[in-house]
Amino acid sequence: MPELPEVETVRRGLEPAMDGARFIKVEVHRGDLRWPLPKDFAKRLEGTAVTGLGRRAKYLLADLSSGEVLMMHLGMSGSFHVFDEKKRSAPGRYYHERSKHTAHDHVVFHMSSGATVTFNDPRRFGSMKLVARAKLDAEPLLKGLGPEPLGNEFDAAMLARACKGKNTSLKAALLDQRIVAGLGNIYVCEALHRALLSPKRKASTIATRTGAPNERAERLVESIKAVLKDAIKDGGSSLRDHKLTDGGLGMFQHNFRVYDREGERCRTPGCGGTVKRIVQNGRSTFYCPSCQR
Ligand SMILES: [Zn+2]
Repeated sequence: MPELPEVETVRRGLEPAMDGARFIKVEVHRGDLRWPLPKDFAKRLEGTAVTGLGRRAKYLLADLSSGEVLMMHLGMSGSFHVFDEKKRSAPGRYYHERSKHTAHDHVVFHMSSGATVTFNDPRRFGSMKLVARAKLDAEPLLKGLGPEPLGNEFDAAMLARACKGKNTSLKAALLDQRIVAGLGNIYVCEALHRALLSPKRKASTIATRTGAPNERAERLVESIKAVLKDAIKDGGSSLRDHKLTDGGLGMFQHNFRVYDREGERCRTPGCGGTVKRIVQNGRSTFYCPSCQR
């Protein structure tokens, strides 16, 4: 499932094709995504311009000249493909990769930039929704989300306050979208490993009794930001090199330090431990029992 860095990479990949461009024609091949597409979806988009392409947690938010916002979520298997005049005429794998998957191209945007943007989603857990800009703050899908992990609002003081007195595991606390928005299983495992903190540790142990941050909270916030920034940077290089898996925006390979590396050597310099997999709240956690305490 795409996590925050993938979604941010998708946003950056879509920006040149969509930002500042008008929807000339919108094709809907299948309207039953996770939820049905909004009423008159194509009609409400056609003729409007994208005035900005942002992101909140794992939602892409396209501001429209009509006063609405197009919210897009990749779900489990969604990806976007961008075809522009240059790439279409370029030789190679783009064309081929695309034709393989057209059965799952559910929505197609023809933009005034000359680009065609397709949304492909074999499992159809992705979604698109139109919301009035003025009502975005009240939007149930976004309401109650914690701060963006890469924003200034997310710091050690804030995280310690949120974890104060919490008996849940540190991992569960970081997956709680009300505490911090957009972190998923992969980057929580990776961030805890970088911070050398055990995923099983109680969340309350990163705060003093009064809820002030201790040194662990500082380390953890730094690690979360670093792991996300590195992944976004990797995504950026895969955008440039067209190395995204399946030729689409939304999925790419990373060099994880612990995630999906059960039984392999820990990558913390000088550790020599072995990555272990445990199950917490029904989901796999990968960590190194030797250096994560
Ligand atoms: Zn280790």
